[in-house]
Amino acid sequence: MSNADTVSTDILIIGGGPSGLATSIHLADTLKQKGLNHRILLIEKGSSIGSHILSGAVIKTDVFKSLLPDVDFTEIPFNAKVVTDSTVLLSENGSFKLPFHVPYMSNAGNYTASLGQVCRFLAKKPKRKVWKFILDSQLMKFCIKMVKLLVQKPLIPV
Ligand SMILES: Cc1cc2nc3c(=O)[nH]c(=O)nc-3n(C[C@H](O)[C@H](O)[C@H](O)COP(=O)(O)OP(=O)(O)OC[C@H]3O[C@@H](n4cnc5c(N)ncnc54)[C@H](O)[C@@H]3O)c2cc1C
Repeated sequence: MSNADTVSTDILIIGGGPSGLATSIHLADTLKQKGLNHRILLIEKGSSIGSHILSGAVIKTDVFKSLLPDVDFTEIPFNAKVVTDSTVLLSENGSFKLPFHVPYMSNAGNYTASLGQVCRFLAKKPKRKVWKFILDSQLMKFCIKMVKLLVQKPLIPV
């Protein structure tokens, strides 16, 4: 493999979904706090962040406060706040609203959002430029090949 085909990193995160993005942000913050300058590379197989994410979601927001403590909450692209829940039975002939709602299924206080939009926000937001994305599919194919090679011939003995 020539040098031109090599991308070096200390930490490789595969997938730019909520988990990969949150991991990158948290890791970048932690490394910064510790004064470490490790490279973090996040690769995503979609043509852009969010493009392979299922669209709808009801989201618990607490985690965003701990993940992005400096970010103004209203900047996060949530849609409506859930104010009430109801359970509706659907049938071929119509619907029937139950007179109660299972408490543990309550979403009151959570927010509806497009998870793709939230991911795009997470990808753009950090000032922490220690991480990058590889979105180009050709490069992606190459990276997958490279990861496979590394797995077959690990540089660090395991
Ligand atoms: C129908 C449905 C409804 C849901 N509703 C809700 C909800 O209302 N509220 C809620 O909180 N959760 C909901 N969830 C769950 C939520 O979508 C997941 O918990 C969340 O998306 C998981 O995030 P993730 O980053 O682990 O994985 P994913 O969201 O699956 O993201 C994985 C990312 O990795 C990329 N990827 C995969 N393989 C590779 C590879 N080999 N190389 C590079 N990139 C790769 C994908 O393109 C994708 O971008 C729902 C899930 C489903 C299926």
